[in-house]
Amino acid sequence: MSARVYIETFGCQMNVADTERAGSGLQSAGYELVDSEGAADVILFNSCSVRARATQKLFTRIGEVRSSRLSEKPVIGVMGCVAQLEGQALFDNPSISLVVGTRATDRLPELIDRALNGKNHLIDLDERADGEVWNIPAAQRHSKYVAFVPIIEGCNKFCSYCIVPFSRGRERSRTADDILAEVYGLREHGYREVHLIGQNVNSYRPKSEAGLEGFKGATPFCKLLRATAATGMERIKFTTSFPRDFHPDIVTAIEENENLCDWIHLPAQSGSDRVLRAMRRGHTRDDYLRRIETIKQARRRLSLTSDIIVGFPGETESDLEDTMKLVADCEYDGLYIFKYSERPGTPAARLPDNVSRQEKTARFLALERVQRRIQRRIYEGYLGREVQVLVERDSSRSRTDKTGHSTCHKVINFPGESVALGQVARVQVRTANPNSLYGELLDVA
Ligand code: SF4
Repeated sequence: MSARVYIETFGCQMNVADTERAGSGLQSAGYELVDSEGAADVILFNSCSVRARATQKLFTRIGEVRSSRLSEKPVIGVMGCVAQLEGQALFDNPSISLVVGTRATDRLPELIDRALNGKNHLIDLDERADGEVWNIPAAQRHSKYVAFVPIIEGCNKFCSYCIVPFSRGRERSRTADDILAEVYGLREHGYREVHLIGQNVNSYRPKSEAGLEGFKGATPFCKLLRATAATGMERIKFTTSFPRDFHPDIVTAIEENENLCDWIHLPAQSGSDRVLRAMRRGHTRDDYLRRIETIKQARRRLSLTSDIIVGFPGETESDLEDTMKLVADCEYDGLYIFKYSERPGTPAARLPDNVSRQEKTARFLALERVQRRIQRRIYEGYLGREVQVLVERDSSRSRTDKTGHSTCHKVINFPGESVALGQVARVQVRTANPNSLYGELLDVA
């Protein structure tokens, strides 16, 4: 069947990877992928349910598409987390004729074929078929230089506020054989950086250790880090790490391998033991700080980022102070702060959401002020230093500037008209902005 398909992606890196995978399967089945909804016969929204705002944006976009294509009636489908959670209920929206769950990506070509042949209200929320492979051709990736490589899907942790274990199901790890073959393939195609991704990468636990033989490590993830480093891929990053499963051997593996990058994202969510218990995070403030201590003592400086939720049900001023203190102690290079928003169906949704919207905003701003001060100091510490930047795109602010990330995952801009995308530039930092660094090009690797 030849038809044009447009996929719009909301949410996290896992959704970006799923879109790449869906696109790859559709192209193999003869579909043409297009860059805008205007020319498409089929419009798919790869949805995110982690926050209420992302879900609202999905329905706004469906409405916009429907009204712009009123006379043509393209097939409109929802895939991803909202599809998995809402299922049949999505058909209450008369624009939607196809619902594809998080594990049904590889069955999309067949579902679309049926939809184009006039079937309405098609739904697939089933599990992945045995033996499905994850490989995505280079041409289908979001970038020609940086590739996302999922190593684990789903989550078993059931933090009380989070919908992911319901939308993405239980943890399933890919075999190392499969992951390493993908990384070797990416290297052959000229990729210079991979991100090993998953809701909790360091909970990686494949059914067999095929591919990890001969690699030391305290956990399968530590072995996988060393095995990935041995592929010779130039830069390797991984996200997100779960505090309870953060073994000190991860830091040792980074110290031993230069191509394991100097950045760790370790979400704390709160600095108050009382709130952490209510969140069912499985770690205490002290457990978390012990892990941070290991990271801080590494032989090379590791950049550290985190997530915090403010205004969780029952959070008091004193809990917030504990969080502010934790943030000050950890000295994060970057912090994603979220105001708590209830996700229906989670245990936390049964708790009275007793922190008002205004109070959540006030707490958000107070914590942001603390983080800004810390971040300014850290960013100013880069002045005069050299960083290796993988050049990912032209800057959106200046026609002559290029932008990319350092190995410590900072955004770096620099005047680089002569530099091609995909090169690694040596840049000396001259200016520290609140969320990025600006520098001068020294040379290109
Ligand atoms: S670890 Fe907690 S916050 Fe992270 S995906 Fe799993 S349930 Fe959600």
